[in-house]
Amino acid sequence: MKFEFLHPADQLVKMMNRIYQDGMTTTSGGNLSILDGNGDIWITPSGIDKGTLTTGDMCCVKPDGTIIGPHKPSVELPFHASIYRRRPDLRAVLHAHPPHLVAFSVARKLPDVNLAANVRGTCGVITMAGYAVPGSKELGDHIAAEFEKGFNTVVMENHGICIGAENMFEAFKIFETLESAAALEINARRLGAPKPLQESEISLTVTRDHLTMGDYAPNGHSPEECAARHDMITLIHRSYRQGLFGSTQGTYSVRLSDGSFLITPHGVDRAYLDEGDLVLIQNGMKEQGKTPSRSVRLHQLIYEMHKNIRSIMGATPPHAMAFAVTDEPLDSRTIPESYIILREIQKVPFRMLYLEPDKLAKMFSEKTPVLICENNQILVVGDSLLNAFDRLEVTEATARSILDARDLGELVHISDEEVGEINKAFNLS
Ligand SMILES: [Zn+2]
Repeated sequence: MKFEFLHPADQLVKMMNRIYQDGMTTTSGGNLSILDGNGDIWITPSGIDKGTLTTGDMCCVKPDGTIIGPHKPSVELPFHASIYRRRPDLRAVLHAHPPHLVAFSVARKLPDVNLAANVRGTCGVITMAGYAVPGSKELGDHIAAEFEKGFNTVVMENHGICIGAENMFEAFKIFETLESAAALEINARRLGAPKPLQESEISLTVTRDHLTMGDYAPNGHSPEECAARHDMITLIHRSYRQGLFGSTQGTYSVRLSDGSFLITPHGVDRAYLDEGDLVLIQNGMKEQGKTPSRSVRLHQLIYEMHKNIRSIMGATPPHAMAFAVTDEPLDSRTIPESYIILREIQKVPFRMLYLEPDKLAKMFSEKTPVLICENNQILVVGDSLLNAFDRLEVTEATARSILDARDLGELVHISDEEVGEINKAFNLS
């Protein structure tokens, strides 16, 4: 589905559903708008249940102020209109009350955009607008003044977040990325002092590897490949719903029996990804007309070095990532199942991912199927797609239980002796 080709009213409904269903706003909080080419502002209505919104509920505000639609427009229409007046380059405004960013807004702090690799690149520089009564001219002035200075992402004191972008999906991407950065920072602070990336490290992330592969036209698609495409899409949709990565993140791949592999595309919305979007890689060449995820060369390297690995997943689950931005190790010896599935998780310095990928690829073994790439991602391998996915889920669940246990009191890991018993009982080396 190409989101930008939907009617503005449909875009508003789809996006508000997504935000509401993901728990990133409440039924009474938040509003979205789109400025179309005729100068009309399409905006969500005031006081209508966000769980049951339909296209017919949307309001259209004409340039002369005439309102078309069955409901009153959002009470925040004045600040939406004010942003469009002052920033003609913006075509979509998203305002919501996502819980982690609201926590920052009531603490009157901005989340650190340098903790995870992609955040600053997606969200840009963020700022804070002063408090005022919702729907007031004063609130509109505070927000619009920040947009006039050139900011597109504004945290609102004791309120929420307001984002302007050239289209609604772009606004959503910024919104979702910043909310997950806020969640990550809150989780990380429960563990210790988060370590932000340095400028020299951020500059390493501008890679073009995924753009420089040669093209080839596949000679048909085998039943094995079609089945793998289907299974990958099922798990990618599930992973996205579970919050294991953001809308254009999450790099999953599966090796086929002829040595080729399927990998996620670069920059395509994971919520609507379909079988045809996945990219087939064969002999270092990519399927014609598609762009694979940035990590394609790393995945290729891992497959070349480890013949038993059939699937690789890179993701950014919010609890496990807390261990990627602090010095705290992620010790899997919480419950026997976690230890059996995850074994000895190791950390990888941020630079290694970009400067020494072969060294990183070599670190995977039977004993280490999960790597925490600092400030970047959780990298998991498996002997099947489901095995890798299980490890990813267990990594996140384990990280979450460790964070929760620390809030309760002293955490007791399974002892070395008990680990020895598990190794014997489950035939682990
Ligand atoms: Zn609000």
